[in-house]
Amino acid sequence: MPTLEAYREIVGDEFITSLYRKARRLYGKHIIHINSTSQGGGVAEMLSSLVPLMNDIGIATGWRILHGTPDFFDITKKFHNALQGSKVNLTKMKKELYRQVNRNFSIYTHIDHDCVIIHDPQPLPLIECYPKRQPWVWRAHIDLSDPNEKLWEFLKGFIFRYDMILSSNERYISQYLPVERRVIYPAIDPVSVKNKELSEKDITKYLGKFGIPTDKPLVTQISRFDVWKDPDGVIRVFNLVRKKVDARLVLCGSMSVDDPEGWEIYEKVTSKAKGLLESGDVILITSENNILVNVLQRSSAVIVQKSLREGFGLTVTEALWKETPVVASNIGGIPLQIRDGENGFLVDPLDTDGFADRIITLLKDPSLAKEMGRKGKKIVEKHFLITRLLADYLAILDSLIT
Ligand code: UDP
Repeated sequence: MPTLEAYREIVGDEFITSLYRKARRLYGKHIIHINSTSQGGGVAEMLSSLVPLMNDIGIATGWRILHGTPDFFDITKKFHNALQGSKVNLTKMKKELYRQVNRNFSIYTHIDHDCVIIHDPQPLPLIECYPKRQPWVWRAHIDLSDPNEKLWEFLKGFIFRYDMILSSNERYISQYLPVERRVIYPAIDPVSVKNKELSEKDITKYLGKFGIPTDKPLVTQISRFDVWKDPDGVIRVFNLVRKKVDARLVLCGSMSVDDPEGWEIYEKVTSKAKGLLESGDVILITSENNILVNVLQRSSAVIVQKSLREGFGLTVTEALWKETPVVASNIGGIPLQIRDGENGFLVDPLDTDGFADRIITLLKDPSLAKEMGRKGKKIVEKHFLITRLLADYLAILDSLIT
């Protein structure tokens, strides 16, 4: 596991020293993060780098995964969708099951930490399962700017009990809440397997291993199979692109236990893209493999992120870091990362023609693609590396527990 020293060369002595300095008052404190999956999706991705670094710097930091049942994850996925604006049939039974799974988990998860950090809505009710003896922080990773009202009323009952809410964007929690709010940006780990430098030899080896030919430029979206990531829309866009440029589309989306809709959406995409799949012009991948993600982000001519909602969009950050140009929806956290026309293109999420047009532009103009890629990396370097996220957490913990 990398220690803080592994980042010195990337972020510089001064930044590393400032981290050690910030951590001094927190030495020996005991912190716990709780979320609902150890793999699949951005939260697990960040925690797997952040938690070891917090320990390395001297804060005893644990990470627990809420043990959900399939019906629990069905409900929490519906909640997730409704928090991003869809309808939900909020029955008494759903509310009870949501609370019950949290209650059960609390029986064997003992909390005597100095601070508890809860990620996303699945473990949100845990706060009512313990005598509250320390600050509790709710880190909301999704776009909460327009939540379903009934659901929000229900969840507010838990949220009110927290000491602080963290979100990725100021606009996400606009409703009145008597709880301190802070904005904290997600981040990527530059030395992880997913983001580290790879040799051309490794890239070629992995493309071969996963059966991805390199005779045509690759256009790739890396995202869970989820309606909000609009894989259907990406195929519509690709159909327009290939009328002008011969290219290949890769949709890479691993499955996650807390997202039970994945296979359903995958099946829909498969039937929609049947002909293209048979000709090999569209490739679907469902295996979880960090090197493959790294390889795809480095070897694609264009990375697409056609989300309809997006809390932040770590896949965009990862591609920018690798100097690969990105065409993405102008929503959620994506405009925090891309300045349209400078280090990528931003397009209205429903503008199929606009997406196709920008992808074609980049496929036809490699020097523009290269220039945009170069600028993309600079933005990530400055704002979205894991060391900066560590600094943000140190500041938050300092304000809550010292
Ligand atoms: N991811 C992955 N394999 C896949 C699809 C996604 O490892 O097949 C990772 C991706 O690299 C990123 C995270 O899952 O680190 C997705 O984070 P993002 O913020 O883009 O979206 P979320 O899934 O959290 O909505």
